[in-house]
Amino acid sequence: MEKRYYTFNRFLRERFGGPVYKIPLAAALGCPNRDGTVGSNGCVFCDNRAFSPFVEQDFSITEQIRRFKAGRRQKGRYIAYFQSYTNTYGPVARLRRLYEEALADPEVVGLSVATRPDCVPDEVLDLLESYTGRWMVWIEYGLQSCHDETLERINRGHDFAAFADAVNRTRGRGIYTGAHVIIGLPGESAEEVLETAQALNTVGVDGVKLHQLQVFRGTPLAADWEAGKVRTLEAGEYVSLACDFIETLSPRVVILRLVGDVTDDALLLSPRWGVSKAEVIAAIDRELERRGTRQGSRLPGGSV
Ligand code: SF4
Repeated sequence: MEKRYYTFNRFLRERFGGPVYKIPLAAALGCPNRDGTVGSNGCVFCDNRAFSPFVEQDFSITEQIRRFKAGRRQKGRYIAYFQSYTNTYGPVARLRRLYEEALADPEVVGLSVATRPDCVPDEVLDLLESYTGRWMVWIEYGLQSCHDETLERINRGHDFAAFADAVNRTRGRGIYTGAHVIIGLPGESAEEVLETAQALNTVGVDGVKLHQLQVFRGTPLAADWEAGKVRTLEAGEYVSLACDFIETLSPRVVILRLVGDVTDDALLLSPRWGVSKAEVIAAIDRELERRGTRQGSRLPGGSV
């Protein structure tokens, strides 16, 4: 059954006519919000070990791709996804070597680069643009919230204007832009979460990745959670807010992800919902069905 929102699978099917899988890659490029350039402590929630399988291992890009493929039964086409830390942080020559090592694989049909919006000089955009004739190229900008007070609270080290500027400089280059958003950030109301959806409509991104606030062992957020200063959402609360977000988001924006998962559950302190990612997605689908709404329903002219 067709979903009530624009899935990444549908987007890929429309362009490639069949399934395409993302290969998560770690390029050891570091992060300016951790090495003292922008900040030293990183974003309060950040622990890259929690969401990337290769982040602490010293495998080349080629070896990471080989291992990923070896773990799959079916052959397919792939998007090389530079996921961990800040994947535009480095000299252009080094970035070129890394990206082109991935693109050299004949089954790789696309490149996706996750980064900070304050870390994309025009030379890096020029490099990524140079691939767009042959490969699908995405830049996924970490944003999390459109509210500067929230960004400060979670120690992002950049403001919303930096994000809008990065998206504007990326536009017109044939590069798809994505935004990462966290639902349930400390101090944010439901209305503020929906204002982020509206801000993304206004700035004009191509895709959004949603996930729940998660508290990982050893992060600054963990200390606040343990002290009772921060809470995470219950599964039902997340489902409801995610549906509200989808209804507020323009139907032309691809939903790249609806809920976060972790590769090492031992690191996760909260929330521990005890349900799989697939079950949360199914609950979101059921809730939209129950409401009779879909992506963009809350917008002027949206069909409720
Ligand atoms: S979330 Fe991203 S920007 Fe923030 S500290 Fe971690 S790697 Fe850096």
